[in-house]
Amino acid sequence: MNIFEEIGVEEQVLAAIKDLGFEKPTPVQEKVIPILVGEKPGDVIALAQTGTGKTAAFGLPLIQKTDIANKKIQHLILSPTRELCLQIADDLKDYSKYVKGFTVGAIFGGSSIDLQMKMLKRGVHIISATPGRLVDLINRKKVDLSQVETVVLDEADEMLNMGFKDELEAVLSQTPKNRTTLLFSATMAREVKSIASKYMKDPTEIIIGKKNVSTENVTHLCYMVHARDRYLALKRIVDFHPDVYGIIFCRTRKETQEVSDNLMNDGYNADALHGDLSQAQRDVVMNKFRSKHLSLLVATDVAARGLDVNDLTHVINYNLPDEIDAYTHRSGRTGRAGKKGTSIIIANMKEKQKISTIERQISKKFIHSSVPLGRDICKNQLFHLIDRMEKVEVSDTDINSFLPEINKKLEWLDRDELIKKFVSLEFNRFLDYYKRMPDLTAPAERSKSKKASGSNKDMGMSRFFINIGRKDGVKPTTIIGMINDYTGIRDIEIGEIDILDSFSFFETDESCAEDILEAFKDKTHKKRKIALELAQQAKRSSSRSSSDRNSDSRKRSFGDRGKRPFGDKGKRSFGDKDKRSSGDRDKRSFGDKDKKRTFKKR
Ligand code: AMP
Repeated sequence: MNIFEEIGVEEQVLAAIKDLGFEKPTPVQEKVIPILVGEKPGDVIALAQTGTGKTAAFGLPLIQKTDIANKKIQHLILSPTRELCLQIADDLKDYSKYVKGFTVGAIFGGSSIDLQMKMLKRGVHIISATPGRLVDLINRKKVDLSQVETVVLDEADEMLNMGFKDELEAVLSQTPKNRTTLLFSATMAREVKSIASKYMKDPTEIIIGKKNVSTENVTHLCYMVHARDRYLALKRIVDFHPDVYGIIFCRTRKETQEVSDNLMNDGYNADALHGDLSQAQRDVVMNKFRSKHLSLLVATDVAARGLDVNDLTHVINYNLPDEIDAYTHRSGRTGRAGKKGTSIIIANMKEKQKISTIERQISKKFIHSSVPLGRDICKNQLFHLIDRMEKVEVSDTDINSFLPEINKKLEWLDRDELIKKFVSLEFNRFLDYYKRMPDLTAPAERSKSKKASGSNKDMGMSRFFINIGRKDGVKPTTIIGMINDYTGIRDIEIGEIDILDSFSFFETDESCAEDILEAFKDKTHKKRKIALELAQQAKRSSSRSSSDRNSDSRKRSFGDRGKRPFGDKGKRSFGDKDKRSSGDRDKRSFGDKDKKRTFKKR
């Protein structure tokens, strides 16, 4: 016997969920379904996030209990957003596809109320509604809730956060007192408790919380950076994951638009989703994202609610939410339906307290990681390129006619050289771009995250000996000025500077060591020939305070400006149409013009 049958799921919906590939009930379904299919179902409060299978947990029993002959609304599902409301109605349609005569309708704002009134007039068994529009229809006396047996409050905490308390109360007051009430919520905020105690009778409490599949499948990463480096860190994180498909959460509409504009200007396949956009604009963006023609969605919490996408690789918290609960919602958007996901926070040191609070709430520790360094990003991008090359379809008929000529032209190159040249064609651009970019991880975090990543290399700094010192009038600013002027590079990260009587030491990002040695050749200071050489490995401890050091490097950290170095703009892996168009973009972005813009110095 199928396990779904054991908990009371009947044949009429079994076939449909089999078509959907549901093999066994999820934990929330195991607990909720038996309660609802009983003769006299009691009220239920379930602490379960989206992604746990809660729609089927209430949807399957409600479909089964529906009296098809009765055309009145028998069950009502309330959810906070139009998207979730439509998603629920669609899911119920899927589950009921073999149930003859069964109807489910969606009632939500921002869409024709006339059509919804017509639907209600025709009669519908279950409605999935958002509170605002439903209250509007109640006021117009166009909806009859007098025969409602079950009310489901889905994402109750979100509905209350969005200010729907009055609407919820108005709707509940229109339904019979002997109804069954189910409340689903990711968190048990005070307002949720208050609604439960006012409108529910002796509810059974079910906590899926920690056991829920989604939290188990989510890795939580934290990147500590200076607040000013937030955007640069975001770009690196995205570049480090060439196949990223994720939501970047911002705190305000303005920030959402800014981050999205910046990403688009820098050549990323991103767009914004927030409340300042019209419903039509939001629909366009969401559809592009759902169909994977967009790989990065920059969104506010409210706008992203109800966006049901199951295979996000990443959720990135560009800024932590004001409400700690919102983090649970955000991270719950990845790691769904058995897939693995990563929730990333980009934070600064001032947010440590908040991070600890979140850790307590999710009962998991963040893994502190270093912002990917240029060379690591380059490595990932290189192998991504190689993977794509391995998989690219070759059109023999088109290529073959050119082959003899190409072979002749390239016959002087052996296999290794040929590979190197083809790869360099694309790869040189990001090698150049990232060559001199500083480490963005906040200094105090570096040793911590290095430990976490198992590396014991010493922060990637080179230490130099220079034959001039205090008695030559040298100060730290003299050294910084020399590095700036002689190399002409303005974004070299400088570490410790030790000025002694007749010589000095200084540290810089090791990736710039050769540039510096070269630039200091044949230079003089007060008529004295400068001798510069690499000293032994950079020391770990600093004789200058880290704030001193930061203030020096802050002045000079202008890295990561300009266009994205990769031609990898579109999501090539998604569909042929997109493949072609991103190929075109690539060609354009390889041009000299673009290159100049890419590497333009501030
Ligand atoms: P929900 O929490 O209702 O948004 O469901 C999350 C996802 O899990 C949806 O895509 C469902 O189709 C899927 N799902 C729900 N129940 C099951 C199940 N028993 N087995 C496999 N997938 C399921």
